[in-house]
Amino acid sequence: MAAMSARWPAELNRVGEQHRPAWSGEFSRPAEAIAADICGAPDKWALFLDIDGTMLDFAATPDKVRVPPGLGVTLGRLTRSLGGALAIVTGRRILEVDRLFMPFVPVASGVHGSELRSEADGVIEFLAQPITDASSLAIQAIAKRHPGVVVETKGAGVAVHYRAAPHAREALDAQLQSLVDTSGRSLIKLDGCSVIEILPCGFNKGTALETLAALPLFKARRPIMIGDDFGDDPAFAAAERLGGFGLAVGRPRANRSRIEFEGPANVRSWLANLADCLD
Ligand SMILES: [Mg+2]
Repeated sequence: MAAMSARWPAELNRVGEQHRPAWSGEFSRPAEAIAADICGAPDKWALFLDIDGTMLDFAATPDKVRVPPGLGVTLGRLTRSLGGALAIVTGRRILEVDRLFMPFVPVASGVHGSELRSEADGVIEFLAQPITDASSLAIQAIAKRHPGVVVETKGAGVAVHYRAAPHAREALDAQLQSLVDTSGRSLIKLDGCSVIEILPCGFNKGTALETLAALPLFKARRPIMIGDDFGDDPAFAAAERLGGFGLAVGRPRANRSRIEFEGPANVRSWLANLADCLD
C-alpha cells in the first residue's frame, strides 16, 4: 500500500487517529482518514470523480472499458448520502458517462470542463464551440500516418489514442503540437495515459471543478477530487484552493509524489465502503 507522503497535511493525521474506520489496512492512510471524516460529517464534503484509470480500468479503446456490476448503484447511493454533492469530472462526453453508468445520471463535467450538467438528470450545456471541421480533419490526417492510432472526436475536443501504437507517441506529439501552434491559441494539447488530447483553450478539469463547486449543491463543502492523470492536476489544485484535497490513483508520475490509491479496484472498494458507512 502506498505510504503517506510527508507533504500530506498534518490535519489528516489527526482525523485518521480520531476516526480510524473499520476497513483500515486496505487503503492508504489519507484515503482512510478522508473516508472517516466524510462518514462523520457527510454534509461538509463533496466528491469529484474522474472515470478512466480512476474508477474504471483502461481498455484497448475507450468504448471497450468494462463497468463492474454495482458501480453505478454505489455512486447513486453515495450521491444520496452526500445530499447530491457528487460529480463526475472526466475527459469523456457526458453522454458517454450516462451510457457507462445507466441508470445513474449524475451531475457531471465532460470533455475537460467544456460540457456541464449541473443537475442530476438535467440538460447538458456545451460551454465551448465544437472543434472545427478543419482541425478535426487535420487531426484525422495526422493519425492516419500511424497504424493502430485511434481518433475519438468528442464535441469541443479530440482524443488521439496510441495505446495500440506506443512507438508513435513521439511523432504524434510533435505533429499535434505543430497543429496546436497554428491554431491561433484556440486549442491546447494535453498529454494523458496513452492518449494526446486536443482541447479548447481555457477549459480544463480545474475550471470544471470550480464551476461545479460553485453550484448550490456543492457550495460550502470541501471538495475531494480523485483522479489518475496529468489532466487531473488542475482539479487537484482547485480542490486544494477550495479547502479540500486531491487524491491520486495509480503509478507515480514525474510531477506527482502523492499516490493515495493503488488503482481503480482500490478506488471502487473505497467508494463501496464509504457508501456502506454512510447508509
Ligand atoms: Mg483518468
